[in-house]
Amino acid sequence: MAPATYLDPSTALDVLQRYEHRDGLSLDELMTSKVHGGLTYNDLLMLPGRIDFPASEVKTETRISRRFALKTPFMSSPMDTVTETNMAIHMALLGGIGVIHHNQSATSQAEMVRAVKRHENGFINNPVVFSPRHTVEDVLDIKARLGFCGIPITDTGKLGGKLLGIVTSRDIQFQPPTTPLGDIMTKELVTAPKGVTLSEANQILRVSKRGKLPIVDSAGQLVSLLARSDLLKTQNYPLASKHSESKQLLCAAAIGTRPADRERLALLVEAGLDIVVVDSSQGNSVFQTDMLHWIKTTYPHIDVIAGNVVTRDQAAHLIAAGADGLRVGMGSGSICITQEVMAVGRPQASAVYAVAEFASKFGVPVIADGGIGNVGHVVKALAMGASAVMMGGLLAGTTEAPGEYFYQQGKRVKAYRGMGSIEAMEQDKPGTVGLNGSSKKGKPVENAATSRYFSESSSVKVAQGVSGDVDDRGSVTAFLPYLHAGLQHSFQDLGVRSVQELHSGARAGTVRFEVRTASAQVEGGVHGLNSYTKRLFA
Ligand code: GDP
Ligand code: 5GP
Repeated sequence: MAPATYLDPSTALDVLQRYEHRDGLSLDELMTSKVHGGLTYNDLLMLPGRIDFPASEVKTETRISRRFALKTPFMSSPMDTVTETNMAIHMALLGGIGVIHHNQSATSQAEMVRAVKRHENGFINNPVVFSPRHTVEDVLDIKARLGFCGIPITDTGKLGGKLLGIVTSRDIQFQPPTTPLGDIMTKELVTAPKGVTLSEANQILRVSKRGKLPIVDSAGQLVSLLARSDLLKTQNYPLASKHSESKQLLCAAAIGTRPADRERLALLVEAGLDIVVVDSSQGNSVFQTDMLHWIKTTYPHIDVIAGNVVTRDQAAHLIAAGADGLRVGMGSGSICITQEVMAVGRPQASAVYAVAEFASKFGVPVIADGGIGNVGHVVKALAMGASAVMMGGLLAGTTEAPGEYFYQQGKRVKAYRGMGSIEAMEQDKPGTVGLNGSSKKGKPVENAATSRYFSESSSVKVAQGVSGDVDDRGSVTAFLPYLHAGLQHSFQDLGVRSVQELHSGARAGTVRFEVRTASAQVEGGVHGLNSYTKRLFA
């Protein structure tokens, strides 16, 4: 047999250039194929590129609206089990942004925005405060529930009252539970004046060797508190999302499209809001376009993220009305039953691709909202053209989400519910029980969840979401850095150094895609093991 003639290996790259077979599909080929219907994230994969840089060099900076950029593409959803003050502060500290929900009164939502804007890393701006009439038992209760017992004492028992003393773990040791705190508190105080910088305050704490440093104004009224234990942690947030001029953390909040939402927005803007999200499950309505026109003329300095949309048609109406960003997703959320009940919606990868492809012509960034269950989904959403992802369920089990942990079948969990669930829509109905167990009394308040799903005037409320619970995920201070590092490693595998490179590579056809069959999905998951543990990061 004659020996086979092979090509010279040193010509492999030249041959590749001229080769008629290319692995995979371009994004357009994948998404415009008539063979399959709409695609979800799980229906597709990307093929590896070439690595010539370390993962740490990958830049995840991205724009979420015309004027606002973040260092990481992560947003937390405006849901009452996901984003309130603590989540919004930590999302911004870690390089993302939180959108504060509107299933609460306008004043309470504005208070949350104010707290985020006023947050100074290290200072506890809303500490637990007692009066001299509180007892040792009250401190023990705080210790059991919240884990600390260094508590400032003011005449009113509230922040803003005159500082009289401080109670620490040593003060309450060996004391009967009924002892009033006024009898045992430490009265020789080391304090710092309002306006002190974090580094000055830290220096005072270092020298004084105390556990806590109360910050007081010129009238001796308590303004905030600093804990020595935080100083030791020396938290550093190099990715923090801050306003370019004020250097305050960025904060977003959601509103509806009713007339009362105009008053709500006025309060939010007064509290320092940067970005408003017009929250609707089907964004292509005259209510929303009217609202967009009004916001753009009344508050030209605020960026508006409109939505939700899943088609180019819907997107065009909102872009024409002035949207600075678009939120994409209908029925893809983990708590969603919209596609099942309404028979309307779109698989999320197809929705993000279609809207992003259209919106990119106008420089309007797209946020992929819902259905993000792991790092891979984040990468796929960005590859479809999204500039950022919005997460509900993935963050609802973190320490920073509202609500307390509880045990369900031996597992530590937190409540998570759709804003279109009956429970969320009946949130403010008299006689119902609130998220925190408080019972609602008095007149019904207009409910944000019902307006999101256009149900306020219906006598029968049709649910578009469910109510349940999710596993404890620890703190977002560990979870978000994991998502970020995971993203950097994935980009490295793809051979792209930034979100922009991923977008342009997908558009130019250099980033390659493939459909993932049902058996490919089985093959790509863990299989063939009797049992295993799945630890995602360390
Ligand atoms: P303590 O000495 O028992 O008060 O506890 P540590 O000072 O060791 O830890 C308290 C931790 O809880 C710190 O990380 C604080 O930032 C945090 N923390 C959050 N809210 C409060 C609060 O209202 N009061 C106090 N004392 N700490 C708080
Ligand atoms: P997740 O991240 O849990 O998959 O999805 C969160 C997203 O689902 C939210 O940002 C919001 O767009 C959407 N969503 C929230 N509540 C509901 C609901 O009750 N029904 C529907 N259809 N979507 C919801």
